[in-house]
Amino acid sequence: MEYVCANCGWEGPKAKLGKSLTLLGVKDEFCPTCGKEDFLVNDTELEEIVFHQTTGEGTCLLLRPLNNPTNS
Ligand SMILES: [Zn+2]
Repeated sequence: MEYVCANCGWEGPKAKLGKSLTLLGVKDEFCPTCGKEDFLVNDTELEEIVFHQTTGEGTCLLLRPLNNPTNS
């Protein structure tokens, strides 16, 4: 699975990510270039972000009926 850093633009496989061991023994993964972990997104998350951006207008159209309930 490929990862992309939204901060510096780094992209690469999971194996290339920086890793650190926390007190609980859990490995934190972070960007090997800028050291940030909050900006890392994997392929799936990236697709979801693009999906939401491209369908932003559609979301507004879907919400419109909820704001205008039909009182018949
Ligand atoms: Zn980065």
